Amino acid sequence: MIYLDYSATTPVNYEVLESYIRSTRDFSGNPNSLHSLGVKSKALMNSAIKQISDTFNVLESEITFTNGATMSNNLALIGVSLANMQQGNHIIVSKLEHPSVYEITKYLESIGFEISYVDNNEDGLIDFDDLKKLIREDTILVSICAVNSETGVRQPLKMIRQIIKKENSQTLLHSDMTQALGKVPVNFHDVDLASASAHKIYGPKGIGLLYKNSRVALTPLLYGSGHVNLLNPGTPPVPLIVAFAKAIRLATTDLDKRENFIRRLNDKIVEDLKKYDGVLINSSKISIPHILNISLLSMKAETFLHALEEHEVYVSTNTACSSKEISTAVMAMYHDPKRASSTLRISLSHLTTTDEVNKFLLYFKMVYEKLSFMKKNEE
Ligand code: PMP
Repeated sequence: MIYLDYSATTPVNYEVLESYIRSTRDFSGNPNSLHSLGVKSKALMNSAIKQISDTFNVLESEITFTNGATMSNNLALIGVSLANMQQGNHIIVSKLEHPSVYEITKYLESIGFEISYVDNNEDGLIDFDDLKKLIREDTILVSICAVNSETGVRQPLKMIRQIIKKENSQTLLHSDMTQALGKVPVNFHDVDLASASAHKIYGPKGIGLLYKNSRVALTPLLYGSGHVNLLNPGTPPVPLIVAFAKAIRLATTDLDKRENFIRRLNDKIVEDLKKYDGVLINSSKISIPHILNISLLSMKAETFLHALEEHEVYVSTNTACSSKEISTAVMAMYHDPKRASSTLRISLSHLTTTDEVNKFLLYFKMVYEKLSFMKKNEE
């Protein structure tokens, strides 16, 4: 099998899985319980939370555990909007967000919020002048994805934050950092709120986090008991938190070394795919090397994906979470419906080998030639 869909999800790291199993087996108490079993679980959970907050240099209370980045995005966008209704009802998002963000803004629009979409250039970089122009006195929130899941386009969040705060110091910045964490350095201090998910960083499925700066007001969306996770009450999933802490630690070490290795693999693929007349490279110079997006000009991406699958090669069309025919990110970058309607995403990892890349290129050629031949015969 050649798995090149690491941005959809990652296989769980064995050490992470072991810590999940160990904490499930040995720490069965509810951390909200007052007896010794509860106290033992709580101590383990607190040390995991401390490890996470130390990694990001934030307060323990600034981390909320969720069930994944979709929930974190919901909490951030809806919670902040509801808490700041008195100040305004205007929200700005980029055209390179994850589909979950657009579902949330659709909902916010339906309850009276006004949404603006900031432009970007052909590389996918946010148009700073447009952003400046869009910010108003009633702009309560800007949400900009750190790394776009389809094209790997990475935004300079620190600079974006400076622009926003200069125009309106009250406007908050949220960033969906799901595709950035574990691939490139992330700094929670560049933003007011950030979303992340464990299953993208070789952690278990079912846990994510929301970073919220302590000064940020947010209306809870869920109500219940338990004092650890105020925004997501109930019994905290201690083994998931412990496993997430381990996944974060492992995924944020050796970032440079891993990125350099992945860039070499990416360069090799790009070099080869450039030879095909019917292939366009969509990832730009500001894309991280882990995500390579291409357009197939004369073939259906879905047919291509399934033809690769016959050789046990796994890639994506849009993101795994999008049912849309057209890639919103590629459309936002190139404004070309044809280019955006047949895209493939090849996503790489430090676990990808040169041998896998060579084999992928071979299978790509075979599938491309087969589908081109079939198409010619149909004409
Ligand atoms: N945001 C981004 C940028 C993503 O790539 C994903 C996963 N495809 C999500 C949010 C949703 O994450 P989760 O599956 O943890 O809800």
